[in-house]
Amino acid sequence: MKSNCKALEKLLTAHTRLMIVSHENPDGDAVGSALALKLMLHRLGKEASVWLPGRFPAYYRWLSSSDTIRYLSEQPEAFLKELAETEVLIGVDLSSLSRTGKMAIHFTGFTGKRVLIDHHIDPEESEFNLVFSDVTVSSTSELICHIFEALGWDKHMDRPVAEALYTGIMTDTGSFSFNCNSPKTYEVTGKLIHNGVVPDRVHKLVYDNNTEGRIRLLGYALHKMQVLHDFRTAFIALDKDELEKNRSQVGDTEGIVNFALSIKGIILAAFFSIRDGEVKISFRSKGTFSVNEFARRHFNGGGHRNAAGGSFNGSLKQAVELFESLLPEYKTELERDEIYR
Ligand code: 5GP
Ligand code: MN
Repeated sequence: MKSNCKALEKLLTAHTRLMIVSHENPDGDAVGSALALKLMLHRLGKEASVWLPGRFPAYYRWLSSSDTIRYLSEQPEAFLKELAETEVLIGVDLSSLSRTGKMAIHFTGFTGKRVLIDHHIDPEESEFNLVFSDVTVSSTSELICHIFEALGWDKHMDRPVAEALYTGIMTDTGSFSFNCNSPKTYEVTGKLIHNGVVPDRVHKLVYDNNTEGRIRLLGYALHKMQVLHDFRTAFIALDKDELEKNRSQVGDTEGIVNFALSIKGIILAAFFSIRDGEVKISFRSKGTFSVNEFARRHFNGGGHRNAAGGSFNGSLKQAVELFESLLPEYKTELERDEIYR
């Protein structure tokens, strides 16, 4: 950490044109960590822009300065112009630049320095000049807290920075219910509260900010859910028509998969939907079953042991069929964890 921090400081002293990017379908940790880094750099007299492949969900709009985030999907020419002038590219909350979706192709010819700050399994280290990778932290936002402390930047922390980081930690731990078994997570969270975060306010702004449509879509999805008790598996698949009929907005399907996983005895849950014309899948598990490995092996994806995602080249129906056909192969693994019966 120490030598990495020194190297980061050196890079930031030598260069002024900084761009922060994160993954497609940005979640609270992507938005929170990118925004916190941008704001902290600003406090230190450095300007960085945040570019995302596409819009983040509306329930993160209350975050201070979130309106300064820019989108490749909306300003492709401005993005290319800025990238051409960028000296340091900082990727946050992504294991590989390929996770930036349609942005990824534009980085192939990028000749500036590349920095990664991430907590996913097996990051593509060769894509970057400097890698901050820690799979033991709850979130990239937590990792950024540790980096700020190591650099002594935490003394410049104010409420907007703290709220962005808290949002990342809260959302990536499902409100402190998974990936949060280390006291370190609570130590940095305590410091964020000292810096002005009001946890119940943030929780309400993120989770009690649903449109009526989102809750009705959830109802529809749960009604459609299939439960395969023999494989301790539950899954939901929503096609384009179903999403459109329910006027689904960006982020509306986020978290639906967790309801399937919350059923007693179920240890594997999947949510299939169509995003940008492609089948996208969210996987969640309880205990030792690794959805990271499952998604990597069969669905061109990855993530963490208990939360991963992937995609499928084909129709929604074919994706579901493949998923169901794989389950017998995993029956022993799915039956392993007695504690969650
Ligand atoms: P979600 O299901 O919430 O979209 O994603 C869960 C986790 O899996 C996140 O950590 C996310 O970064 C990762 N993930 C989601 N989709 C993909 C994917 O297509 N490829 C990879 N490598 N990781 C993904
Ligand atoms: Mn994350």
